[in-house]
Parts: sequence; structure tokens; C-alpha cells
Amino acid sequence: MQGEFWRLESPSSPARRAEWDHGRVELETITCPVSEGHQRSGRRLTDLSVVLPRGSVESFVWTWQSECLMQDHVLGLFRSRGFTGFEVKPVTARFDGSSEKPPTLWELVLTGWAGMASSASGLRLDEAKSCAVCGHLTYTGLVDPGHLIDKEKWDGSDFFMVWPFPRLVFVTQRVVDAIRENKLTGVRAVRGWSFEPVTDEFSPGRLSYSMPEGRARELGEPLGIY
Ligand SMILES: [Zn+2]
Repeated sequence: MQGEFWRLESPSSPARRAEWDHGRVELETITCPVSEGHQRSGRRLTDLSVVLPRGSVESFVWTWQSECLMQDHVLGLFRSRGFTGFEVKPVTARFDGSSEKPPTLWELVLTGWAGMASSASGLRLDEAKSCAVCGHLTYTGLVDPGHLIDKEKWDGSDFFMVWPFPRLVFVTQRVVDAIRENKLTGVRAVRGWSFEPVTDEFSPGRLSYSMPEGRARELGEPLGIY
């Protein structure tokens, strides 16, 4: 069943990754009156500004923080195919040490949804290490990535997110076909379940840090992750 789903990721070489243009990217800071350990970055308050390595710019560009950016022609292709489950945000880009103007880039923002990771994957909320006061969420134990996605919870979108992995870009076969037919560069499609079990606990933030406000509220409030 999970074989129908893919995930887009950065090619293995990090050489073409973009850096945030620090100073131009502002993050919300969340503090907790109960525990200093819960202090964290929240929403990004600005659109992305990035610094690109010099040289040719590939169809997709990934930042060190794992944002997925795409060139204008990629966005045009995805729109012409009628793909669902995403929006884009504008990106300001410059080359490192050069005044040459880079091509237009857009940040991929997922709005498609496959809900919470299936309990069959072993993943669970660690309530003792989460916090009702500031909304800090801690998860533990993705034992079986093969059971991550519960297809019953998938909304049918071509691009979609599975909680608690807001940075993973899950896509349908149609998207992978379009990428391959058009020989798009700077991206690798891997099977949806193909990542290592996560044994350490981790804190993904909240859904509103990654998804547009209205959509995050609609999906996240009933699940307590908005
Ligand atoms: Zn807290």
C-alpha cells in the first residue's frame, strides 16, 4: 500500500544547498513559564531569503533547514498538471559573492494531509515530555517507517504531510512521473517509507509553524497540534 507514495528529498551531495540569508529571516521565539527547556523557534515571520552557491541553479533547491524551493518552470509544470496539496511563497535569493541575479524561486508549502502517523508505526506522543502550557510536543519511537502512513487519513492530495514530520515532502506517483519525464534536477524521489527508524525522541514544533494559518487550524485543532 505504501508503495504508492513517494518522498522528495535533497540529492545526497549537499554542495548545492542554499543558506538562509540570516538577518533577513526572522523567527518567532516561544518561551515557556514552566520550563526553560521548552524555549524554541516558532513560526517564521518573514518570507525566505537565501544565499545560493555560485554556478547553475537546479530545478529544485534545498536549504540547510530542509525547505524545498523550486524554479518558476517547475511551478508552471506542477500547476499545468493540476497537482494538489501545495501552495508557494515567494523567495528572495542572491548568489554568494556575486551580483548576478538568480532565477525566480518559490518555497513549497504543503497543505495536503495524511494525518497523524499510524499507531502501527510505533510512534507516539510522549505526554510526560510534552507541555500543555506552551504547546511543546515530544514524540518517540518510529519503530516501523513502513507503517507510517494510514491511507484512510490521506486526503488524496498529490503533495502531503504526515504528522509529526512537517519537513518531509510526501508525493504521489503522478508527481514523480512529471519530475522524471521533464528530467528535473536537484531532487531525488525515494519510496515513502524509506527512511531509518527514529529511536531518539524529537520535537517537531506545531503544525502552525509549517502550514498556512487557516489550514493548520482546521487540521490541527482537533488533534491538539495546532
Ligand atoms: Zn512548556
